[in-house]
Amino acid sequence: MELELTEQQRIIQKMVRDFCDREVLPVADTWVAREEFPVEVIRKVGKLGIAGLRFPAAYGGSDGDMLSVLVALEELARGDASVAVTIDVSATLCGELLYRYGTEEQKRRWLAPIAQGEIIGSFALTEPEGGSDAASIRTAAVRHGNEWVINGSKAFITNAGTPLTGLTIVAAVTSRDGKGKAAISNFVVPSDAPGFSVGPAYHKLGWRASATRPLYFQDCRVPAANLLGVEGRGLAQFLWALDLGRVGLAAMAVGLMQACLDLSVGYAQKRRAFGKSIAAFQAVQFKLADMATAVHLGRLVTYHAGTLVQRGLPFKREAAIAKLFTSEAALRVVDEAVQVHGGYGFMEDSPVSRYYRDAKVLTIGEGTSEMQRLVIARELGCG
Ligand SMILES: Cc1cc2nc3c(=O)[nH]c(=O)nc-3n(C[C@H](O)[C@H](O)[C@H](O)COP(=O)(O)OP(=O)(O)OC[C@H]3O[C@@H](n4cnc5c(N)ncnc54)[C@H](O)[C@@H]3O)c2cc1C
Repeated sequence: MELELTEQQRIIQKMVRDFCDREVLPVADTWVAREEFPVEVIRKVGKLGIAGLRFPAAYGGSDGDMLSVLVALEELARGDASVAVTIDVSATLCGELLYRYGTEEQKRRWLAPIAQGEIIGSFALTEPEGGSDAASIRTAAVRHGNEWVINGSKAFITNAGTPLTGLTIVAAVTSRDGKGKAAISNFVVPSDAPGFSVGPAYHKLGWRASATRPLYFQDCRVPAANLLGVEGRGLAQFLWALDLGRVGLAAMAVGLMQACLDLSVGYAQKRRAFGKSIAAFQAVQFKLADMATAVHLGRLVTYHAGTLVQRGLPFKREAAIAKLFTSEAALRVVDEAVQVHGGYGFMEDSPVSRYYRDAKVLTIGEGTSEMQRLVIARELGCG
């Protein structure tokens, strides 16, 4: 298995790294403190073509590969998790669903502007009654002539209600069999669809500058042509997208861990105690060594899953392993990073405290750690 980056992937890595050093890191604390969605920065990330890396040029993309996407997400998350998750959801969930299942018309109308960063997309599966048990959603869509009429609500939807949000892909029940088992379909719901509305932003522990809102559908009408793929196949579609999204989230965890490691090494070398730099104390060295080990292993499992995606091989198990390992490792890494920074690490304006808050949701979003373990166990033939 080849895990060395190609020259093209290195160019993308450097481009995103330089962008974050210039446009994200110096100001991220400000917009995070204000819980403000950074519209202009997201526009600029869009102009760099990051959301279109894996899509063909015909749909506004740059014909790149999955590793390029992962490298870019890693670098964005090294800068700020809110920026990274905004692009991750738009490209890796919404965009990939459109690319894989959309009609030619849907790709031209919706995927191309996502790929070119003119709009962002969202993906609405979770409902107020639950997210892990995704097959039990209650939002329903009924066909009336040339339209689908959607009723229900969604909770915790990333990228909802921003000035850049052009559409959301919404999962809804379209029929039930004799035993009441739901058939789910996915729909492209434009932000201005009649009967569609967005609730107030949640106040969150982390990812504070990302937009997360509830969605409401009250006799929301979309054209029949907005059905994504085959009616009744929505469950398989979003499970595939979630697998892919998990690899993206793992890349974000790696970027966050890398940032914590870099900050901690830098701080440990400068900070002095007992007449020495604290990097001279073995207890501190061990923390840094454990952090570096987590970053390295996290990057390997994430790139491995990405390589399987790119080769068109099964990747469900590897995606779950990458997501589980990196998100849980990130919690340990942020904890040690704050510890190395001592009291300064606990201050609001310390960068490591931002990463500390941003890490927790990595074990929840796109399937909790418990759900990843269930997926891995099932892949082992258990349950
Ligand atoms: C910041 C943020 C952004 C999000 N963005 C999106 C988005 O863009 N789109 C979207 O659709 N959703 C989004 N989500 C929702 C997210 O995917 C869900 O929160 C997550 O899947 C868990 O669902 P839940 O919150 O309903 O928890 P629940 O499903 O109620 O689970 C609660 C607890 O029970 C455990 N549990 C549940 N079932 C089992 C089981 N069978 N075995 C063992 N343990 C179990 C869970 O692991 C968890 O610990 C977002 C969430 C957050 C916090």
